Formats: sequence, C-alpha cells, structure tokens
Amino acid sequence: MKRSYALPLFVAVAFLSQAALARDQWQIHDPNRPMAPVITPGPAGPPVPPPSDALVLFDGRDLSQWSDAKGLPAKWKVENGYVEVAPNTGSIRTVKGFGDCQLHVEWMAPSPAKGEGQDRGNSGVFLMDLYEVQVLDCYNNKTYADGQTAAIYGQYPPLVNACRPPGEWQTYDIVFHRPRFDKDGKVLAPARMTVFHNGVLVHEGARLTGPTAHKARPPYKMHADKLPVSLQDHGHPVRFRDIWIRNLE
Ligand code: MG
Repeated sequence: MKRSYALPLFVAVAFLSQAALARDQWQIHDPNRPMAPVITPGPAGPPVPPPSDALVLFDGRDLSQWSDAKGLPAKWKVENGYVEVAPNTGSIRTVKGFGDCQLHVEWMAPSPAKGEGQDRGNSGVFLMDLYEVQVLDCYNNKTYADGQTAAIYGQYPPLVNACRPPGEWQTYDIVFHRPRFDKDGKVLAPARMTVFHNGVLVHEGARLTGPTAHKARPPYKMHADKLPVSLQDHGHPVRFRDIWIRNLE
C-alpha cells in the first residue's frame, strides 16, 4: 500500500507556522512577550558637540526650531540648558521636515521616579511625527515589552534594556529611513530604524509595520517625503537636551 504523506506534512506545516507565529507575530502590547534583558550601559559622559554637518534642533537655549501641533510657539519650559515637557500643553514638533536622517536626542526621566508601567517618565521621539521610539523610565519598572524604553512602540521591544536611573541623562542615536511609496501609495519599502540607547545597539534595521500607535498596528498611508520630528507630551515632566539631526537624503 502506498503511504500518504499528506497528513504528517499538514501537521508539520501547521506546527511550524504556529512556531513562526509565536516568534514573530506577538499581539500588540502582549503581556506575555518577554521584556528585553537588563544590561548596564557605561556612565553618562558630558555632552559631545554635534558634528559640523548637523542641524542643531535644540542647543539648550531656545525652541526656535520647534512649534506646537498647530504651528504656534512651543510652550515647553526651557531652563538650565534643557527643555522640559510642560504637561498638557501638547507635543512639540520641528518647524522643518525630515526624511532619511540620523537623529541624536538626550533625555532624562523625572527623579524621584513616580508612577508605574507606562505612567513613569513617559514621552517619545517621533520620526516624521508618525514613528515613535518610546521614551519611558524602565529602570526597575515593568511594562509591556513593545512599550518599554527604546521600543519602537507597539512593534519591537529593544534588544536590551540599557536604561540609566531616573535623573541621569540618556541618549538615543537613531538612523531612520522613511518608507517609500509608488505614485499610487503602494509601499515599495517600509520605514527602517537602527537605534542606539546610551551607545548600545537596541534595533538594527528594524522594518516598521506602519505608523506606531496605541493598541493598533495601522497600515502605511502615503505621506510626504519630509515631515517634522516630534516629542511627545505624555503628561510627565521629562527633560531633553542636545538634539541634532543629519540629513541622509
Ligand atoms: Mg511614549
């Protein structure tokens, strides 16, 4: 009798696709998704001057490169060489737009730490006002993996948790490539991000599924080649300094 391989093959394929699903297709904000392992980055150094071809977006003195979401002057508090989120005044965005870029941002979570999970030192760095690298105080703080510090929000946890304690300056260095669309809005290439947190690689060429969002993974929608960088007002007095960008277009 000729033996049929159809059933074993079906079982194997079903099993393998389940395994692939478990590995790659976590539900958004899945509480079972493991948080990134904690490592200790090197200590914070003094600010490093930006490279000569960078556009300085914030040098500690004023918000002339920024506006609020309506294009009016940004209302966040500038003092002592940093800018602090003024809770409930809204996110701020750069006056200029950017596409492919290298972005350097330094930030500090409030100390002493207050709140738990997403309610502790939450802000965010948005490329093109659409694609968020999460800012959060995850030093001894549990939350869902795709929303932890340096996560590409709702999509990818960082490779490691390289947080410094609240009250210390931390750095993000982000290499971003915007998505490419054809003339009909079809996605030719997704947005890609490589991110260093405190000098430690946390994403390498991550391919975004679309804009980042809370409890949703919306698809791409065709947009301009250049859009503002924005910083999120999540109601917490997070501080920023030394923000500069290099155009890679
Ligand atoms: Mg955020």
